[in-house]
Amino acid sequence: MARTIGVDLGTANTYIYRKGRGIVVREPSVIAIDEEKCKVVALGEDAYEMIGKEPNNVKATRPIKDGVIAEFDITVAMLHGFIVKAAGKGSLNRPNVVLAVSQSITEVEKRALEEAAAEAGARSVAIVKAPFAAALGAGLPIEEPRGSMIVNIGGGTTDVAVMSLGGIIEADSVRVGGDKIDDSILSYLKRKYNLIISPIDAEELKRKIGTLSPHAEEKTAEVYGRDAVSGLPLTVKVKNTELIEPITEQIAHIVYCIKTTLEKLHPELSSDIHDYGMTLSGGGALLDGLAEYFTKLFGFEVRVAENATDCCVEGIQKIIDLFPQFISFND
Ligand code: ADP
Ligand code: MG
Repeated sequence: MARTIGVDLGTANTYIYRKGRGIVVREPSVIAIDEEKCKVVALGEDAYEMIGKEPNNVKATRPIKDGVIAEFDITVAMLHGFIVKAAGKGSLNRPNVVLAVSQSITEVEKRALEEAAAEAGARSVAIVKAPFAAALGAGLPIEEPRGSMIVNIGGGTTDVAVMSLGGIIEADSVRVGGDKIDDSILSYLKRKYNLIISPIDAEELKRKIGTLSPHAEEKTAEVYGRDAVSGLPLTVKVKNTELIEPITEQIAHIVYCIKTTLEKLHPELSSDIHDYGMTLSGGGALLDGLAEYFTKLFGFEVRVAENATDCCVEGIQKIIDLFPQFISFND
């Protein structure tokens, strides 16, 4: 009996559950490759640390963009590294892989992911929808005859789904997530202060002081970068409330996606969402003030799942351990 692993292959982070062992991989979806020697230099956290500081022959890459494969061979190499880490080396250890994919991906993109997993060492692959897994992981009663709504905000994509009686009733997705927010902060600082910073620093700033709440306690952070005009090093003090504008610009796309999903619902389900609210998951859900912002906008309760970043992989774990009827492996 081959071992089974569940993979949440995110744009920003990869999580892997191994049956009987728990969550055994929790790493940034980054790989560093020596392009001259065609050799993997670092994987996950170690590769992430190298971004922007690589020597000429080495490139640290995030091969998944917007929830789909941007660079096939590099995705295979990264996934292979993670699978070995989770399941061990050698053909005897080739695991069955349950792979969570974004709601919106096309058949072609889905097939590419299956193929990548097979080349990376999977014995067989089963696909599950990421928002379905996230809802299970968040503990939503999706088998019950009532509407449960999840919004999973990752690095590259946001998946919105309403479920009832064990199935997805309405779902939509937008290729906006934490990365676009980082880009938006980066452009704002360039516009306002002529300050050029790296995407990694923009992300750090967002996590440290980013907020959507105009009433947030005042916080400032010093940001180091380069002056766009003089090219010299430049330090700027940035206030948390300043960041509301560039963050809101991107959240607007997520709001639009949620609204269009709500509009398509049968009135019965609409009233369930109104009564039971909406749950946020994924790393993007941790943005300060986001749940309050949505609550005010939509007029129903919006909460952040307790295990926001782990919801998807914990959902895959539940599927593997408790609801294997939801998966069918290819052979
Ligand atoms: P993915 O599924 O795409 O791999 P994750 O669910 O792991 O993504 O979430 C990663 C995203 O969450 C990143 O864009 C990251 O910046 C964002 N994130 C993580 N923690 C926070 C935080 N405290 N505040 C705002 N954004 C956060
Ligand atoms: Mg994710």
